[in-house]
Amino acid sequence: MERVPDGLFIGGAWRPATDEKRLPVFDPATGEIVKQIADASPADGKAALDAAVEAFPAWAATPPRERAELLRRAFDLLQERKEDFALLMTIEMGKPLAEARGEVAYGGEFLRWFSEETARVQGRYGPNPEGTGRMIVSQHPVGPCYLITPWNFPLAMATRKVAPALAAGCTVVIKPAALTPLTTLYFAKVLEDAGLPAGVVNVITTTQTGAVSEPIIRDPRLRKLSFTGSTPVGQALLKQAADGVLRTSMELGGNAPFVIFEDADLDKAVDGAIAAKFRNIGQACTAANRFIVHRSVADAFAQRVTERVQGFAIGRGTEDGVTIGPLIDDRAVAKAAQLVGDAVQRGATVRTGGNAIDGPGTFYEPTVITDVQPGSEILREEIFGPVLAIVPFDTEDEAVRLANDTEYGLVSYVFTDNLARGQRMIERLETGMMGLNMGVVSNAAAPFGGWKMSGLGREGGAEGIHEYLQTKYTLTANP
Ligand code: NAD
Repeated sequence: MERVPDGLFIGGAWRPATDEKRLPVFDPATGEIVKQIADASPADGKAALDAAVEAFPAWAATPPRERAELLRRAFDLLQERKEDFALLMTIEMGKPLAEARGEVAYGGEFLRWFSEETARVQGRYGPNPEGTGRMIVSQHPVGPCYLITPWNFPLAMATRKVAPALAAGCTVVIKPAALTPLTTLYFAKVLEDAGLPAGVVNVITTTQTGAVSEPIIRDPRLRKLSFTGSTPVGQALLKQAADGVLRTSMELGGNAPFVIFEDADLDKAVDGAIAAKFRNIGQACTAANRFIVHRSVADAFAQRVTERVQGFAIGRGTEDGVTIGPLIDDRAVAKAAQLVGDAVQRGATVRTGGNAIDGPGTFYEPTVITDVQPGSEILREEIFGPVLAIVPFDTEDEAVRLANDTEYGLVSYVFTDNLARGQRMIERLETGMMGLNMGVVSNAAAPFGGWKMSGLGREGGAEGIHEYLQTKYTLTANP
């Protein structure tokens, strides 16, 4: 904890907030304050943007290899400090240590992947169709960017934005969630130690989220907003961005269907379900939200997952063997309780769990509910907690209709051993990503992102860097 900076990182220097305000960071497993850090004011936000604007021309002009090498050094340093990062995330966010280690591996990959992509940004040159000139298409960094990240994956959400932005030649201001800011501060330290030039990455931590962010978003010097968080906040930020016709990427909420057909391998489906539902204590945008299970296997599936859930160890993520940590805060516990209460009132059955656990810490029992009735809120809303809700279906058409019956379209999971059926589901589901007989899809080499109200743009893959590039076309005379 001593190695984690407690200041704002602006223009290459660590400093307190201008008004000296500080914000407390809590351990959700104990409710105790683990560290006090700077709480930025709107003036600090402006200073951070000033620094990113000033650093932009020089950074944009660096050879791609230099930028690649910086990202690669950061990747290596992250590996050296991986235990620090894992412990830090467990303490500030609550996920079990084994999962925090998994996030370090996943989050680190964005640094390696985009260090490799840096030198692969290409344009094209050739005659126009009429043969009257030569067309040159070139790619240019979009400019200073504002990156806003959520609390649920403190490292991966930061690297997934910072790495492609830096690779493209952009400078950034990043604002992590006030609930989990320590990982981003420590990540900035890694970048600093890797040789980051002053002002290329600036970090502001604040409780005055809207007051600090809006002037940055409305500043005409800002050229890009990349946001990961809930859909309502994303919508509000899109409105702020509209006046300046600001480029945006939006990674928003999900309501993932997890469809199990009667021909699925049930062992694989149960393993996939446990991963898709309980990873990160259910607090993932990719978490399976609705288990849509063929009626002939619904009871067997419910029984198998219930047995697995009853074997979970609940506790502080730092303790050996713990598989379910706390939820992020009281509001998250209240939301899980309210959604389960509503479902039960409408006729669902609780197979296991279904209760908040007395403090200290903000825990909710891992829960399985069956026979969830149409109209239940749990089918509409992101649960963001360890509650597995099962809805039976009879026909493939009904499964497709239920799966698509949501305003979201981030990820879908389908379990079937019938190849043609699997292919039909790829064609028919309204989703940006799909796990076919797989319960986890995230990969730095893949384009992560959603359809419908789950967002705009993609992070990762060959697509990820293009979120931070803009295209220029030039027509030249024939030689
Ligand atoms: P949130 O929308 O409350 O907050 C996200 C970030 O936005 C935080 O940094 C927060 O401080 C900031 N924020 C909140 N209000 C703001 C405002 N008025 N102006 C500027 N910034 C503001 O979301 P959360 O609770 O931190 O995260 C959970 C949500 O994130 C879920 O909906 C989840 O699905 C989504 N999420 C999506 C992805 C994805 O890739 N699609 C990944 C992770 C999480």
